[in-house]
Amino acid sequence: MVREHYLHPTLVKMAMEASTIFHNFDEIVGGDARFTETGRMLLFPERDVSAVRANVEMNREFGVNIQTLAPSEVAEIVPQANLEDIALGVYEPTSGYADPVATTYAYANRAMDYGAEIVTGCAVSGIRVQGGRIVGVDTEEGPVEADAVVAATGPWVNQLATPLGESLPITPIRVQMVHLRRPPSLEALTTNVIDYTTGAYFRVDAGYGTLVGGENLDDLNERGGYGSLYDMAPDGNPILDKSASVDGLYWAVGFSGHGFKLSPVVGRMMAEFVMHGESADHSIRDFRASRFAEGDLLNAEHPYEGRRHQ
Ligand SMILES: Cc1cc2nc3c(=O)[nH]c(=O)nc-3n(C[C@H](O)[C@H](O)[C@H](O)COP(=O)(O)OP(=O)(O)OC[C@H]3O[C@@H](n4cnc5c(N)ncnc54)[C@H](O)[C@@H]3O)c2cc1C
Repeated sequence: MVREHYLHPTLVKMAMEASTIFHNFDEIVGGDARFTETGRMLLFPERDVSAVRANVEMNREFGVNIQTLAPSEVAEIVPQANLEDIALGVYEPTSGYADPVATTYAYANRAMDYGAEIVTGCAVSGIRVQGGRIVGVDTEEGPVEADAVVAATGPWVNQLATPLGESLPITPIRVQMVHLRRPPSLEALTTNVIDYTTGAYFRVDAGYGTLVGGENLDDLNERGGYGSLYDMAPDGNPILDKSASVDGLYWAVGFSGHGFKLSPVVGRMMAEFVMHGESADHSIRDFRASRFAEGDLLNAEHPYEGRRHQ
């Protein structure tokens, strides 16, 4: 899913830029990310109402197209929803979803157009260091020389960091999705919905399918689906930083459950960081690894209860 609604100003601005890229992918990147605009409805219980109002106001100040809705207004957009415990809805009409495989291929193809060589199925087994500076990596197919290396290896990052004496606070967390067939009575439902009372969310899939995910769904094991990993940092937000021990080595990990939508912007931020030591438009410092030891986490001022990432 691709959205602009975030609970921290830096993330709002990054998500807005990324959303613009997904909406105009062929023009800006080249190729087809198969972005589909569906709208996105968030359903909130009473306990989150004041936080929701504050966050929506902050998002609107930055220009996000988002509004709060009374349950009766929610019902006009998503008439199929059971709104029994819902105090407030939040609607983001230009939100949607893209195809992660198509997106990845589009970026890979454009990178190759510019001369990148892409190697798959070949693990990096270690970082090569001389005099405190990176000189390359060891791989299953032999060493590769490099002046700069960005480790974007998700939950596996500490396999590379630990031998250097670094330990990034990344915890792998298993999350599950189920794929349900939609009954004919729900055919007309096309809006992505996130239910903050249960932690469940769904998005319409091709044909009659619906992808359902959630952090508190007890009965997921009884249905067809799949599990995958979040690479969780303590505040649920990425670590975008240079290594504390090796010059020329960078970390881009900890995207938790929201790294796809931010990826077009994170890629640009990391490229600028490597080339110029800072990011032009967004505060990459907010994502430094030392924020955890400093107690300066990238937390929402008005968090929603019971969510692993905001
Ligand atoms: C069920 C689920 C639903 C999600 N839904 C959304 C969503 O709706 N919207 C959204 O924005 N985000 C979503 N996310 C989060 C998003 O998928 C991730 O944040 C994103 O994929 C992270 O990308 P990444 O490239 O950082 O890491 P990954 O996709 O984990 O990629 C890391 C890669 O590094 C490789 N690797 C690891 N170690 C090595 C090594 N030593 N050498 C070489 N390669 C290595 C791995 O094989 C892997 O391919 C979801 C995640 C899950 C699990």
